[in-house]
Amino acid sequence: MARDFAGKRALVLGVANKRSIAWAIAQELAAGGATLAFTYQGERIEKSVRDLAATVDTSLVTECDVRSDGDLARVFGEVGEAFGGELDILVHSVAFAHAEDLEGRFTDTPRDRFLLAIDISAYSLVACARAAEPLMEKAGGGSIVTMTYLGGERAVPHYNVMGVAKATLDASVRYLAWDLGRKNIRVNAVSAGPVRTLAARSIAGFPTMEAIVEERAPLHRHVTAEDVGAAAAYLLGDGAVNVTGTTLYVDSGYHSMGM
Ligand code: NAD
Repeated sequence: MARDFAGKRALVLGVANKRSIAWAIAQELAAGGATLAFTYQGERIEKSVRDLAATVDTSLVTECDVRSDGDLARVFGEVGEAFGGELDILVHSVAFAHAEDLEGRFTDTPRDRFLLAIDISAYSLVACARAAEPLMEKAGGGSIVTMTYLGGERAVPHYNVMGVAKATLDASVRYLAWDLGRKNIRVNAVSAGPVRTLAARSIAGFPTMEAIVEERAPLHRHVTAEDVGAAAAYLLGDGAVNVTGTTLYVDSGYHSMGM
């Protein structure tokens, strides 16, 4: 059964195509009655995002490269205009590292690509939360969810610099939760097991990650984007009113195992 998001206004960053985790989350929000705004990165995926957005109640579709302060200022301005100066929900489902840094040795990651991965995959959450803060404060509070992975807590071969970026993201969730809690803004993460998406395809060891989860996770099965969407919907909804600064694992229980 869909959760109740009637009257809620949500901004979703990170839809690339119908397989994107962000799209699974957006569908949960839409099914609960939320009005949505979407961003897309670059003309290459604009049509795909616009076509998906047209199937739900959408007030805004706009371009955003999270590396650009100018883009972020414009986007949150447009969101404010679309939603009467208020925002209830922010979905941050964005990450990037160069493919060559997701194979071989982490030790060989050059400085510029290390910083790029952290900028796009972690700092962007801080920048978005700061821009969302006045809109959520005006709404009386808000809920922010980002997407993380166990590779930020343990060394997962091939995940490399993205693991370091996820560790930065995880710590950012906790510090943002502390800062923004006084304004009734909650900040949480979903840690997903391997899901076949565009971003996952660039990880050299992805099929091995999937096979190991199937073999060793307590539930011995893969997770889907829909499973992740349902967990994010819980965190974003009123049922999680006193949940902040935490990570919810949707990984068939893999994180709980020692071997
Ligand atoms: P995806 O490729 O569908 O989504 C990644 C999104 O990041 C895309 O929409 C892309 O346009 C966006 N993006 C990249 N660089 C950007 C930039 N500079 N500015 C704005 N947007 C940018 O893949 P996904 O698997 O749905 O990834 C979503 C999130 O889920 C990521 O944070 C990813 O690390 C995380 N995650 C994925 C898995 C998995 O197995 N797929 C597991 C755990 C966590």
